[in-house]
Amino acid sequence: MAFWKRKQQEIISLGLNRAATPEEERIVREEAEGSDDQARFYDRFKKAVSSTRENLAGRIDSIFAGKRELDADVLDHLEEALIGADIGVQTSLEIIDSARQQIERKQLNDVDELKKLIKSELRGILEGAARSRKAGTVASESEVPLEIRPYVMMIVGVNGVGKTTTIGKLAHRIKSEGNQVMVCAADTFRAAANDQLAIWAERSGVPLIQQKPGTDPSAVLFDALAAARARNIDVLIVDTAGRLHTKANLMQELEKMRRVAGREVAGAPHEVLLIIDAVTGQNGLEQARQFTRAVPITGLVLTKLDGTAKGGIVIAIAKELNVPIRYVGIGEQMNDLVEFSPEAYIDGLFG
Ligand code: GDP
Repeated sequence: MAFWKRKQQEIISLGLNRAATPEEERIVREEAEGSDDQARFYDRFKKAVSSTRENLAGRIDSIFAGKRELDADVLDHLEEALIGADIGVQTSLEIIDSARQQIERKQLNDVDELKKLIKSELRGILEGAARSRKAGTVASESEVPLEIRPYVMMIVGVNGVGKTTTIGKLAHRIKSEGNQVMVCAADTFRAAANDQLAIWAERSGVPLIQQKPGTDPSAVLFDALAAARARNIDVLIVDTAGRLHTKANLMQELEKMRRVAGREVAGAPHEVLLIIDAVTGQNGLEQARQFTRAVPITGLVLTKLDGTAKGGIVIAIAKELNVPIRYVGIGEQMNDLVEFSPEAYIDGLFG
């Protein structure tokens, strides 16, 4: 029983879980359905998207209030509500077009069916992105083969998006799932970033490899890889610089780090997570476009989902970048990082 309980928690928290076989995972997942942990997970998601829910679902409800007929007026208002939640103009238009066609063909007859259509279209976009995997990358930490050690996660993103905080939360989470974790402070450009990272590393009780400000980030990474191997570390989380205004240099630096990682550990970096601040909405999307052009991103982390009423940006990002959203930040505390679930997100928005 203890094994199942522990496994259940691991699956619910969904971090690095090397021990379970796919069959074990399936059984545990099925057992987890309807459990308290599952309910708590959905609850946290719901709380995190409460402002967006009020913004989007609240508006949709007022559009539909007292309406039975699906007329052009309803669709126009609906389009505005979707765009207003930052779902993106293109996506919103596509959803409305699809609704219009279905109404014409009499496949959609009332407000409830229209609501169902919106939910399933949005969910489809998120699930499509979740399925997309870049060739040669490890798409999920729960599928990490045991022989990969250290598993190298590079964390990239613009300053201020919550990179340091996310690294702290990730380190804590992966460690609490029974792995040896190490953090590499390769943002040598901002001395303050290193100090912050040191605080988070101490908080989560993981070793930090750092050098003096100005050191070549690839040299810090090289040291960290050697230290990780020497100490038999399971997961190395690598912070990187995020000064986008010197974009060309930054991208060269990231490329060099990728080369160093790959030379020292086969297949590394196994994961390149791009951190995006949900509050910055369409700006965040623009940053993401620039990063994805320069570095092969394997997954996204969307921070500060709790701090925006425009959480629809999740959809816009998934649709445009077609990269899986792996985690979302839902607060400033250590435990405020959850695995992204399209189902929990859509339920949180409309449920
Ligand atoms: P960095 O410059 O990218 O390393 O950003 P930091 O990690 O220093 O975070 C910037 C600010 O965002 C800090 O005040 C964090 O507490 C805050 N922050 C980070 N993630 C979240 C989140 O998921 N929710 C909320 N509400 N705040 C967050």
